[in-house]
Amino acid sequence: MTKWKRLFNAQSRGHVIVLGAGVIGVTSAYYLARAGHDVTVVDRADHVTAGAGYANGGQLSYSFTDALANPAFLKKIPRFLLGLDPAVIIANPFNSDLLKWGASFLRQCTGKRAQENSIKVLNLALRSSAMLEELLSVTLDFSCRRAGKLVLIRDNESLDKAARNYHTKREHGCKTEILSIEQASVLEPALAHMPGPYAGAVYCEHDEVADTRAFTEELARWLMAHKKVTFEMGQDVQSLITRGNQIDGVRCNGHDIVGDAVVVYAGAWTEKLLAI
Ligand SMILES: Cc1cc2nc3c(=O)[nH]c(=O)nc-3n(C[C@H](O)[C@H](O)[C@H](O)COP(=O)(O)OP(=O)(O)OC[C@H]3O[C@@H](n4cnc5c(N)ncnc54)[C@H](O)[C@@H]3O)c2cc1C
Repeated sequence: MTKWKRLFNAQSRGHVIVLGAGVIGVTSAYYLARAGHDVTVVDRADHVTAGAGYANGGQLSYSFTDALANPAFLKKIPRFLLGLDPAVIIANPFNSDLLKWGASFLRQCTGKRAQENSIKVLNLALRSSAMLEELLSVTLDFSCRRAGKLVLIRDNESLDKAARNYHTKREHGCKTEILSIEQASVLEPALAHMPGPYAGAVYCEHDEVADTRAFTEELARWLMAHKKVTFEMGQDVQSLITRGNQIDGVRCNGHDIVGDAVVVYAGAWTEKLLAI
């Protein structure tokens, strides 16, 4: 049995280093501490959630999980590559990493795979929703509100696609609805002042909004006060410390932090770190 499996066996306890104090790292620290591990969270920033979660959109969109890799998306790719879509900027479209990633993305753009992937992400999202409910037994103040999410749809083709997805989503336990624009206006009267036309809307009352930074900061404070979790901030991890096929520490500027296992949640920097 590998050391990793031994460590995460329900009976064993260990010292786990979590690399990255973003929302994912801090939430994982919570579950590791709850399972009885001592946890050290390491981050190069001087405060938690300095990465993508610092000022994100705060949407908990459990119901909008349609895979980006789908047949309709293929038509848009030339516009992205040529820089004709203002919403997407690809700094260097022909670098080898992007080409490799692009090839695997294209393989997922079939109708069958798009459907399978959307259902997988939906199941993951619904599980996340249930786990957040459970996590709220730890009282955290992060402006979480079940505001619902309303997405307006301009053309009939997109509305038909949304209607097809609607059935699949409901079969998988997601309470989404297709609304006429009149029904949507009852929910959101401000729509009367918005330029249309719109073909309809998709609404999910279950979707929430929350302040990711406040959530992460509050959870980190709670962990320091109630669990064996420490935070080593201002530690720029240069590499992982390996012994045989084990990874049991991180090498920062000037010193090592060692434990029984390391989990890496360094967001967009993860791949670079793991490639060291
Ligand atoms: C503009 C924007 C809007 C978004 N809106 C939404 C939204 O509405 N809803 C939603 O669900 N998601 C949204 N997201 C995505 C969401 O914010 C991210 O998926 C999430 O924050 C990722 O969390 P993370 O903990 O994995 O990574 P991060 O929050 O990026 O944390 C990674 C951490 O790793 C640390 N780190 C990296 N490398 C090292 C190193 N070498 N040494 C030490 N520390 C290191 C960084 O300092 C950072 O603190 C949005 C993202 C952006 C950018």
